[in-house]
Amino acid sequence: MKKDIKSIMPEFITVDEALKFDEETTRNLQYTHLNKTRTILCNCKYFVKADDFTFYDEKGDKHLDFIGAVGVCTVGNNNPFVWNEIKKVVESGQFTMGVISLHNVPAAFAANMAKLSPGGKLTKMATATAGAEAIENALKLVKLATRDKPEKTHILSCEGAFHGKTTGAVTVGGKEKWRTYVTGLPTSTHDYVPFGDEKALEDALKKGIYKAFFFEPIQGENGIKVPPEGYYKKIRELCDKYDTLMVADEIQCGFARTGKMWCLDHEDVIPDVLVFAKGFSGGLIPFGGILAKEDVYNAAYLSEETAMHHTATYQENHLCAAAGNAAIQFVLENDLITAAAEKGKYMLEGLKKLQEKYPKIIKDVRGRGLMIGVEFFDVPPGKEAEFGPQYSLFLDQVLVDDFRIQVMFTINNPAVYRYLPPLTITKEAIDYCLESTDKAIQKAIDVIGVV
Ligand code: PLP
Repeated sequence: MKKDIKSIMPEFITVDEALKFDEETTRNLQYTHLNKTRTILCNCKYFVKADDFTFYDEKGDKHLDFIGAVGVCTVGNNNPFVWNEIKKVVESGQFTMGVISLHNVPAAFAANMAKLSPGGKLTKMATATAGAEAIENALKLVKLATRDKPEKTHILSCEGAFHGKTTGAVTVGGKEKWRTYVTGLPTSTHDYVPFGDEKALEDALKKGIYKAFFFEPIQGENGIKVPPEGYYKKIRELCDKYDTLMVADEIQCGFARTGKMWCLDHEDVIPDVLVFAKGFSGGLIPFGGILAKEDVYNAAYLSEETAMHHTATYQENHLCAAAGNAAIQFVLENDLITAAAEKGKYMLEGLKKLQEKYPKIIKDVRGRGLMIGVEFFDVPPGKEAEFGPQYSLFLDQVLVDDFRIQVMFTINNPAVYRYLPPLTITKEAIDYCLESTDKAIQKAIDVIGVV
């Protein structure tokens, strides 16, 4: 006879109970069993409801989402259309999981992604459960695809780049900090060039030793760095010239965020491999993957010897694929690509006016579409210990605590905080955010002072 869980394990917490937790209980459990210091450093709030670009706390207060779980909630939080498409798969009762079965929804998602890929040319896909795992997938792919070229010994990527935190991803990432203590990494076969620097890229590639060049079309965690116009075309030209695979990490900047489906579409450039994650599950299910040109993918995986070299239990998962498919459909049906371009331009102009008003506080405002970063100057000497080295950290906290606007500094460059709201954000919400940013800067001047 079935027993009740509480009779087996009295302290077992059910989902029903967890969903009714108050903030204190949740915080205490999180401190005890999850990453306590991260929770404190990230100034985590307790939201009992999320709807589109609004969060509600226990008191019923509203908070505006201008970070979208770091670019994940592209179609808004708890998007009902995406949930409903996932529900259809659950209710179908079908079995499409794992290596033993065919996958209908993932195959459909892959076919749709192939059509939407840059130039419609990246027709092969492999999915993963997150961005960093997708980067691992890309690393494996380029290594296998070039295995018959003994002169190709190295991987090239960019200084300051962020590609995730698995051991492979921190190796291709350009920030030393994330490699510290992670010993035994193959850094001797990885080189890094300054982002956006065509000459440095050519000087490196002409050595002829690189299997692939990994880059973010806009560097996200390094402070929303937009490269000079023509950079993507130049990468394509140099990668062709020096027989190096071009791998674009569009995990943060892809999927409509910059006002095009893919950031590389701004220059109509087709990479050999494109890495996606974040927005593709509507922020509801862990998801990521790669798209690749058929010849590159086949060079890696067509042979029986290597076909199984990069498999994973949850690869080609039907729930993730349903979420991905639904998120695409929602973006296209609601023209969120145009929305990102228009609202992003409006917000960027508003922030540039703030920069003119506070030239000694705001160093730079930059971005594309709804991927916008604000870089701040250092605080006056002697104030660093109390307020952190730049105004950004103080302002981030004031926006979150006083104005209930969620933003976040960029982890490889904390002088910058960024706005990555859901693409469904309204102009009214942007206006409130701009007014609040203005007031937060005034508070910073009152509290910290200006040099
Ligand atoms: N690549 C880029 C450009 C990212 O911004 C991120 C995450 O922020 C990743 C890779 C890693 O993705 P994940 O956190 O899903 O592993």
